[in-house]
Amino acid sequence: MITYVNGQFLPEEQASVSVFDRGFLFADAVYEVTAIINGKLIDFEHHMARLQRSCKELQLLMPCSVAELKQIHLQLIQQNSLQEGLIYLQLTRGNAKVRDFLYPETGTKPTLVLFAQQMNIIDSVKAKTGIKVVTVEDIRWQRCDIKTVSLLAASMAKEFARQQGADDAVFIKDGYITEGSSSNCFIVNRDNQLQTRGLSNIILPGITRRAVIELAGEQGIELIEKAFTLDDMLAAKEVFITSATTLVWPIVKVNNQVIGKGEPGEIAIRLREIYLQKTQ
Ligand code: PMP
Repeated sequence: MITYVNGQFLPEEQASVSVFDRGFLFADAVYEVTAIINGKLIDFEHHMARLQRSCKELQLLMPCSVAELKQIHLQLIQQNSLQEGLIYLQLTRGNAKVRDFLYPETGTKPTLVLFAQQMNIIDSVKAKTGIKVVTVEDIRWQRCDIKTVSLLAASMAKEFARQQGADDAVFIKDGYITEGSSSNCFIVNRDNQLQTRGLSNIILPGITRRAVIELAGEQGIELIEKAFTLDDMLAAKEVFITSATTLVWPIVKVNNQVIGKGEPGEIAIRLREIYLQKTQ
């Protein structure tokens, strides 16, 4: 694969960053993952708006404009002949040439890295079968609204899920579900409302979450942004997660308990289909 590192397009074998890079030393870095379907960028402007917000919250300066970032994305799609998959972008506070917690003085250039990854998004087996999840205590920090590369808690949660024979983990904090380990979480509650936790510092403002809420509105599905408990989730008619690369994945089991009829729910299937149609 051809990658991008600080202004250069390079084969992946030649792509590298310094051991003093603050992304490596302090997870002092933000990222975005944009889905590619039929060679096209999905929801790109929203991803870039979130990137700008993440940068602002961390006083991190973007090294180039959104228009330039778009050109880099398009180049990577073209050079890698990518039809379906993702473009990963990471921006770090750069190489300060020393290990010091304080942000470096001006003059340290941010590190910008992008790469492409092939992936089946449309014909995903898990979208058809649904997934099994386990709940895990949310041990992450208080700024989950910033999309940083500090992903160890998510990695631990996913690994725990795998060891339990599940496909993924959903975080729980103070008795309420926050979000998936790398996704937002929705239920269709007993009143047939689509329910998801409201935005705050506790969850990432998912781009797919936003898109699904918009689609639900167009479909006349009632939405309520309100936190729900594990019991609410177990009693729900449907449960699903959303993210850029999964779009909508139904959840059929939580902690080994069957949700609804134990198969992908009607609303999850419908929202996924409409989302896909819109990307064509
Ligand atoms: N929450 C978390 C914790 C995530 O890591 C992700 C995916 N990066 C999401 C939600 C979903 O966000 P998006 O729809 O923008 O991919």
